[in-house]
Amino acid sequence: MRVKVKSWNTVAIWRWEVNDDICGICRNPFDACCPSCRVPGDDCPPMAGQCRHTFHLHCIVKWLSSDNNPEQLCPMDRQPWRK
Ligand SMILES: [Zn+2]
Ligand SMILES: [Zn+2]
Ligand SMILES: [Zn+2]
Repeated sequence: MRVKVKSWNTVAIWRWEVNDDICGICRNPFDACCPSCRVPGDDCPPMAGQCRHTFHLHCIVKWLSSDNNPEQLCPMDRQPWRK
C-alpha cells in the first residue's frame, strides 16, 4: 500500500516508488541497507536501471566493478545495465 504524503520531499517519495521492495543482489529490503553498510540511511539508496530492476547503490556498484562481470550486465536479466 502506498500512502501519498504531500509534505514529503521528492527524494523520499522516489525512494519508495521502486518496483520491488528487496534488492536483487543482497536480498535485503530497501528500507534496510546493503551488507556493506552498518546503518540504514541516505548513503545507501535504491538505484533503478532502465530495465526497471532496482538494487542498492552499493550492491550494483560492487557488481558492475566485479571482474566476473566485465560486460556490466544487470544481474537479473543479463541486459547491459543503464542508469
Ligand atoms: Zn543490496
Ligand atoms: Zn550500502
Ligand atoms: Zn535488469
